[in-house]
Amino acid sequence: SDDGVPAIEARHIRKQFGGLVALEDVCLSVREGEIMGLIGPNGAGKSTLFRILTGEMPATSGEVHFRGRNITGVGVREACAMGISKSYQIVQVYPELSLRENLLVPLLARQRGAFRFDVMASVKRDGELMKDADRLLAMMGLSDRLGGPVSDLSYGEKRRLEIGIALATQPDVLLLDEPLAGLSPEERVQVVGVIKAASIGRTTLVVEHDMDALFGLADRIAVLHMGRNLAVGPPAEIRENPIVHSAYMGG
Ligand code: ADP
Ligand code: MG
Repeated sequence: SDDGVPAIEARHIRKQFGGLVALEDVCLSVREGEIMGLIGPNGAGKSTLFRILTGEMPATSGEVHFRGRNITGVGVREACAMGISKSYQIVQVYPELSLRENLLVPLLARQRGAFRFDVMASVKRDGELMKDADRLLAMMGLSDRLGGPVSDLSYGEKRRLEIGIALATQPDVLLLDEPLAGLSPEERVQVVGVIKAASIGRTTLVVEHDMDALFGLADRIAVLHMGRNLAVGPPAEIRENPIVHSAYMGG
């Protein structure tokens, strides 16, 4: 919908870890269908903000709104069921299972009442679900590996599988935390293509240190610095922003 209601919104978020204030009065409003890039020096609070938006951890204060609804305090399962999903941590993938089998788990996660004892058996009888898994693997450029185990994948292939797993929950809001980290230039080009395809028809938030890649991808960029909002705007504007420059130079 394009009724002006943000897809996802952080309102005056504060996050304290003991004596450390990781986020202070942080606001972020992401439009429906938008790709929002999030940048900031290490320790700025980007990953913490993502964890709060996905329900992985609660904020100390402030609110999270999803499509106009206050969802502050909902856990990660409920947030995922509502349509907010972050790229999976690869350590949580089942290395001995095939790529296809790894995708069936999150594909089922959005299907109400799907958590049954005979879940894998029923999945194997469900041709539609298998087709969904294979379609996602094709989108990730992993069609040739779909029956093989995850343990056979290269690092770059695993990063693409992570995005596929996040997409398998059919999120309305997709969050990617440093999807290009550790990838070769060739793999970066490939994953940027994957992100472009993945972002079609959904709202996408991306934390990324590769400025060239992110600025070419995002509709707007938000800048965090020392746990606070520093700037938000279109890439061209952020690129020319002297405050952003001095924050990155440590000035
Ligand atoms: P970024 O992703 O921008 O590099 P983070 O959100 O990971 O930054 O971290 C922001 C600050 O919060 C850092 O100082 C970090 O050490 C601290 N921090 C993050 N997570 C925790 C945690 N679980 N416990 C304590 N401190 C944390
Ligand atoms: Mg981080």
